[in-house]
Amino acid sequence: MACWKRSSEDNPWYPVIDAALYTECGKCMQRCPHGVFDAAQAPRPAVIRPGSCVRGCTECADVCPRTAIKLMDGDEEAGGCDFCGGCF
Ligand code: SF4
Repeated sequence: MACWKRSSEDNPWYPVIDAALYTECGKCMQRCPHGVFDAAQAPRPAVIRPGSCVRGCTECADVCPRTAIKLMDGDEEAGGCDFCGGCF
């Protein structure tokens, strides 16, 4: 279940791509509707707008066949939705 509370400078949530694992399949870019990835560099998954990422969302990481994407919650790897209540 995705949470639609926006990431922010104070409360960042954003994807990090492992360059050693990704294969430029483009699935993450196709899945994300929020403009986090640079379409001009497709299928290379270049993150250009991390502030547009949606807190609690894991869609791009979920579709990655190589587990090349991890979501960061601030300085730490995100553990998934924290049921913050922001989407209700
Ligand atoms: S976590 Fe969701 S909003 Fe953020 S880049 Fe991935 S698909 Fe887009």
